[in-house]
Amino acid sequence: MTSLCPEEFNISIIEDGFSARDFMNQRIEELDKAGNRDAFHTADLDNILEKHLRWVENLPRVVPFYAVKCNNSRPILALLANLGACFDCASQSEIQQILSLGVTPDRIIYANPCKQESHIKYACIHGIQMMTFDSEDELDKISRCHDNGKLVLRIGVDDSRSFLRLNSKFGARLQDCCRLLERARELCLEVVGVSFHVGSGCRDPQAFRDAISASRRIFNMGIELGFKMNLLDIGGGYPGSKTFNPKFEEFADVIKFALNDFFPDDTGVQVIAEPGRYYVASACTLAVNVIGKKVLTDKSSNKNADDDDIRAERIIMYYVNDGIYGSFNCILFEYELCFLTCWKKQVLSGHKYPSIIWGQTCDSLDNLVEHCVLPELETGDWLLVDEMGAYTSVVATKFNGFKEADTHFVMTQASCFKVINGVRGIGPLNQSKRAGNVRPSFNKSGARRQQQRQQQH
Ligand code: PLP
Repeated sequence: MTSLCPEEFNISIIEDGFSARDFMNQRIEELDKAGNRDAFHTADLDNILEKHLRWVENLPRVVPFYAVKCNNSRPILALLANLGACFDCASQSEIQQILSLGVTPDRIIYANPCKQESHIKYACIHGIQMMTFDSEDELDKISRCHDNGKLVLRIGVDDSRSFLRLNSKFGARLQDCCRLLERARELCLEVVGVSFHVGSGCRDPQAFRDAISASRRIFNMGIELGFKMNLLDIGGGYPGSKTFNPKFEEFADVIKFALNDFFPDDTGVQVIAEPGRYYVASACTLAVNVIGKKVLTDKSSNKNADDDDIRAERIIMYYVNDGIYGSFNCILFEYELCFLTCWKKQVLSGHKYPSIIWGQTCDSLDNLVEHCVLPELETGDWLLVDEMGAYTSVVATKFNGFKEADTHFVMTQASCFKVINGVRGIGPLNQSKRAGNVRPSFNKSGARRQQQRQQQH
């Protein structure tokens, strides 16, 4: 597997004590000086490492297959590959991306229940066996295009407690599962397990318990039909934001109990999940620049019309250099942007004004914030938006000719060192050592120093 070499993956190694936010501040100052104020993301890879450690600690029995669709930046994928995570791919090109990192095919699940035939053939040729299905047509395609699949029946579950629902599109109805399993048997296909997705941004951990319980029923059905059912895939839906309630730990507790009740350890069932948002949402901050403003005066809101010194209420519209067709695509599906702050060197004081924030395209759908209250900003000022790692840059288009915002990947020396040398308790790192992987050489002097220091102790 390709090691996480900072040079190869264009990762900026920062001195310990310096944060991703410090990096971002510095970058803004550089851009201000250069007079080129393009929007950019900063991805804090330490934050992703922390998430992985939290996952391993709270759900040790559940192997994470990171959902590549959520953020497919190569340094993020390489980091996760080095941490021993596995991958949920939705298409041929996602599979190619993961294989190109030297990840072995047994660490990939092709978790799109409706696949193009040529993509199934590609998966077959490259040794990807695990894949999901939820229809007879998919079974027919798989039997034509893949001779060695390990199939996972995606079932429909209640997703009403999630802000992004998926089950109107995917997931077999429970009453159809028996027929599907029988069809798989007729076609001599090997069904090995059940998967579900409770919807993205799930608000109620009990949704997982209900879905795990439903999976047990379908498992039993499969076993009765003669399949060796040994895989449960509990999908995605875990919170990624720092402030989201309930917290990930509460989800993990409910999941652990449900697994103990319905799939106890001694059944030998392997449990995997497909977290996307969980891993990356909080890692990225987007810096956007105010490229224009328009002040609307609203005299009707004047409280003292007789006063000569009339101070009309002002509504200020700002235009920024990213938008709905770029990194902010996520807000079409999610709730409002809660993590917007002004970036200014001087402390902003004085009045605040009702404000509206627009993206840069000529489309009026490109509205980022319909109403918020901000101190008065000027063209050239910056706004920072936290928690922009999930379903953002990966969905960006070039609509109106705007290029997508660059991402700067940042990691502290200490974390980089840990990843490369193995974090205690993370198995697959040891695997990579067993495989005799060459450790990367550091050209960044700081990281090399860190390595030497550790060796001396
Ligand atoms: N797995 C599948 C099949 C999905 O469709 C998705 C998201 O759409 C995910 C996993 C990731 O979900 P989340 O980002 O909510 O964890």
